[in-house]
Amino acid sequence: MIFLEFAELCSSLEKISGRLETISILADTIASLSKDELPDFCRLILGKPFPEWSGKKLGIGPNLLYEAVAYVTGRKREDVIDSLSRVGDAGAAVEELLSQKSQTSFFTVELALADIMSALIEISEMEGGRSQREKVRVIQRLLSSASPLEGHYITAILLEDFRIGVGEGNLRDAIAQAFSVDSKLVEYANQIRNDMGEVSVLALKGEEALRSVRLVPFHPVRMMLARQGTISGVLEEGILVAVEYKYDGARFQFHKQNGTCKMYSRRLEEVTKAMPDVVALLDAALPDDIIVDGEVIAVHDGRPMPFQTVLRRFRRKHNIAEAADAITMIPNLFDILYCRQEMLLSRPFRERREILTQVASQFVTPQLVSGEEEEIENYYHAALDAGHEGVMLKLRESHYTPGVRGKNWVKIKPETDTLDLVVTGAEWGEGKRARIFGSFLLSVKSNDRLVPVSRVATGFSDEQLNWLFQTLQDDIIRKDGKMVYFEPRLVFEIGYSEIQKSPNYEGGYALRFPRFVEVREDKDLKEANTAEDIEERYILTHQSVNS
Ligand code: AMP
Repeated sequence: MIFLEFAELCSSLEKISGRLETISILADTIASLSKDELPDFCRLILGKPFPEWSGKKLGIGPNLLYEAVAYVTGRKREDVIDSLSRVGDAGAAVEELLSQKSQTSFFTVELALADIMSALIEISEMEGGRSQREKVRVIQRLLSSASPLEGHYITAILLEDFRIGVGEGNLRDAIAQAFSVDSKLVEYANQIRNDMGEVSVLALKGEEALRSVRLVPFHPVRMMLARQGTISGVLEEGILVAVEYKYDGARFQFHKQNGTCKMYSRRLEEVTKAMPDVVALLDAALPDDIIVDGEVIAVHDGRPMPFQTVLRRFRRKHNIAEAADAITMIPNLFDILYCRQEMLLSRPFRERREILTQVASQFVTPQLVSGEEEEIENYYHAALDAGHEGVMLKLRESHYTPGVRGKNWVKIKPETDTLDLVVTGAEWGEGKRARIFGSFLLSVKSNDRLVPVSRVATGFSDEQLNWLFQTLQDDIIRKDGKMVYFEPRLVFEIGYSEIQKSPNYEGGYALRFPRFVEVREDKDLKEANTAEDIEERYILTHQSVNS
């Protein structure tokens, strides 16, 4: 595939807002690609040349790009910066600048998709003092062979600022359509391999290839997630559930094979170097050829420390040894996904837990198995008294479902004053959130329409914002300056301090100090709060203040 064709496809996809049309155009293209082109195409169309877990990074900031663009277009660096800030979008600005350059002064060679990919790999492998200069040179080489439209998308890829409205969901369905395979199998293979590039080639081979994907150490899988719920909601007549403390720390996956250990974060980035103490503890406690799942917490005098303390360790790149001395971290293991060549995902949790307790000499999370509401309540209060977040209730017959927030894991935490609101739009963020959505527009149902009542920009972790961006970019139906609007699908649970009357929102009310609590994936739009609920809560609180 030549890169111009790819760029033209991106440009037309950007103008389409219908999901089905996007999928069908993508599927036609995917079906026409060769086996060698498929993986590069699938990775680049998501704007992610490398899977998160590969550890490969481009590391190109705007400054490097300004320099390369200035060189290629024969402009001053300041002119390039001016143009970027005027146009707002780096890709579009580079397109404009390239279209103004005198074509005769450059030799234009036809770029293939594979050329772009090998240049990206070359960039990701550059290290050391001279690497910045070398990166600029590669970018110059690419941009001087590029047409304006190609320059647009090369820039977007280089800056990891690719927003053409194709997320994993659309790509999964397009791959399934292109090769007439079940999209659930494409999803399954991607849960395990975490790389749409590799999965596309398996889909080309057929359903059997997708079904037989293997989990292997040092290739992390997405973490299974939990829903919010209540103890009585989980307990049915006669059912026994596994109850564990819900630790307020950082999720990790630990892999060990042939004496080598690696630890990954919830976003599947490798954190082995930042956590030498925890890695050493787990290395000593676990045998070879294993993948386990857990939560690491910081402790002081036997009590858990706030989540922020854990993050200070997790994200650290320098002075790691000092930080390890200052902050004691303890891993808590609660699941096992792979052991001695065997994939354990489809074994019931009951069995996985048994294997985990057999193989791990220490650090296995204590567990209560009970069907008694009162006993579980007591365990929950003991967890809170010990400084933990609450408890997790897990169904003992459930499989490990990577990346899925299902009903098999239910978290029980103290209640706060919250509303469930529908996410109808978002605004691009600023600063470190510039390439993802930074705030969200929230609405309630009022006479069969959705009317905005609030915006929320706080309470999100970086991981959540990244996940929301990945999830919601497929739902965009309209763009307007820095705002995008979604086909409503997600419900956010939002904490707030007070409901106020406000002329700023069509519904006449606004939330004071709105704070994101979580995505209520267990709720559909019909179950979200309505305008009448808000009015009722307003009247109730104001009556009680006045009386
Ligand atoms: P939340 O982040 O609120 O959706 O809650 C789910 C998170 O709780 C998981 O991703 C883990 O990071 C964390 N967690 C703490 N303790 C446990 C546990 N015993 N089992 C599973 N997850 C746990």
